[in-house]
Amino acid sequence: MVRVIMLSPPGGGKGTHSRWLTQQTGAAHISSGDLLRAEVASGSKLGRRVAAYTARGDLVPDDLIFRILMPAVIAAARDTGGYVLDGFPRTMPQALRAAEWGSEFSLTSQAVIYLTAPEEELVNRLLDRAQREGREDDTLAVIRHRLAVFASETAPLVEYYRSRGILLELSTDRPESEVQAELLDWLHARGLIQPVAGESGPDHAEPAEARPPGTRDQPREHQPVKPTLTS
Ligand code: AMP
Repeated sequence: MVRVIMLSPPGGGKGTHSRWLTQQTGAAHISSGDLLRAEVASGSKLGRRVAAYTARGDLVPDDLIFRILMPAVIAAARDTGGYVLDGFPRTMPQALRAAEWGSEFSLTSQAVIYLTAPEEELVNRLLDRAQREGREDDTLAVIRHRLAVFASETAPLVEYYRSRGILLELSTDRPESEVQAELLDWLHARGLIQPVAGESGPDHAEPAEARPPGTRDQPREHQPVKPTLTS
C-alpha cells in the first residue's frame, strides 16, 4: 500500500489531490488541518490551545501536533496499510520525527508530492474557498501570513525530500486531470501503484502491494479518518 506525503503552500491543492489519491489507492487520507479543526470544534482544552494558533495562521507547536496526529496516523496505517498525509509534516523537526517514526513502525514514506501554483493563484483559490466554506483562516491577511509561514517553515522540506530522491514537483496551475495523470504515471513508474491489467489511466490504479489478509474483498474507497475540506 502506498505511503505518500502531500506538500503544498495553502491553496496548492493538497486537499483535493490527497482525497483523489486516497480513492485511487485505498490508503487512508490523514489531513492534519482537519484533525486540528475537529479538535477545536470539540471544545476541548487542547482544542482551545490549538485554536489560538490556527486562527492567526501560525503553525501549531510540534508537541501538540504529535499528540493529535500520531494516534490517527498509526490507526489509519494499521487499518489500510498506507497513508496519504495531507499537511504533515510542515516543519523540519516534524519531518525528522516522522522519518524516525516511519522506520520504527516500518511505515517510511515512499513519495512526497510537492504541489505548486503562482502566489496570486493561491490567494484567489483561498478567497474563493472563503466564499464557499467560510474558514476562519481564509481572510486576506491570514492567507498572506500563512504563505509567509510556508516559505519560512515548510519550504525547506522540499530540498530535504528532493535530496532523498523521493520528491515529485507538480504545477497545479492547469486542469486537475493533467496533474492527476502525471502523478499516477510517476507513481506507476516507481512501482508504487500499478494499473489493473488491460486498463490504464487515472480511474484504474491499484495499489502495488498486496492488501493485508482479510481485506481483499473490501471496497477500494476507504473513508478518510476525518471529514476533509479542500486545501
Ligand atoms: P490546512 O488545513 O492544512 O491548511 O491547515 C490549517 C492550519 O492548521 C494551519 O494554518 C496551521 O495553523 C495548522 N496546521 C495544520 N497542519 C499543521 C502541522 N503539520 N503543523 C503545525 N500546524 C499545522
